[in-house]
Amino acid sequence: DRRPVISGNWKMNHGPEAAASFFGELGSAGGAARVIIFPPALSLPAAVEAARGTGVEIGVQNVHAEVSGAFTGENSAAAAREAGATLALIGHSERRHVFGETDDQVAAKVARAVAEGLEPVVCVGETLDERKAGRLEEVLDRQIRAALTTLPSDGAFLIAYEPVWAIGTGETATPDDAAEAHALLRDRLTEARGEVAAAVSILYGGSVKPGNAAELLAADGVDGVLVGGASLRASDFRAIIDAA
Ligand code: 13P
Repeated sequence: DRRPVISGNWKMNHGPEAAASFFGELGSAGGAARVIIFPPALSLPAAVEAARGTGVEIGVQNVHAEVSGAFTGENSAAAAREAGATLALIGHSERRHVFGETDDQVAAKVARAVAEGLEPVVCVGETLDERKAGRLEEVLDRQIRAALTTLPSDGAFLIAYEPVWAIGTGETATPDDAAEAHALLRDRLTEARGEVAAAVSILYGGSVKPGNAAELLAADGVDGVLVGGASLRASDFRAIIDAA
């Protein structure tokens, strides 16, 4: 499925009621674009229910690597699947940098998500310091290689390139910055998976808004977007879907 992907990560926003109203306002959405929303775990059942018939797919923002057990406060991939999620965001920059998730943990979470029937969306991206130090390629290379150790061989997964310096800062990568990083990731995917890599969509994330979505989506190698702040209001998110 290589339709443009328009996805929204609500982060720690929108309880069950707000989730339901969002889909009421958004209306029908899947069609020319593949549309995905990642609500917080507690809002998953409400979002799944409200999104029924709209064409919007629902994913969980994070899962634990273990099947189940004594991990207070965590969510299992199986529970997310049972609640109706069909995708799982793994290794978001906030998970990596705020909660200290390592490449190994990301790979383990990918394995668990896949085992439970969730399609993984793995996030990668460099910090400002790493970019300034000329380490863009090294960092993306390390992150994607680690994820590829457990990503499925059939290409049933997505990658999101989210430069950490562009997340929630209003600072957006230029279409050229995005194209450069996406080309690098596409190369690694092709090295690792051959022809199957062509089926994998690579999304850009970081301050995507209604006003810049069209030019980012038009950049070379950008197959879709992962939207944070501008996915919270149905009208903004609708404008981004319409830009695809
Ligand atoms: P913003 O669109 O708010 O910058 O967030 C991007 C992001 O992290 C999406 O996962």
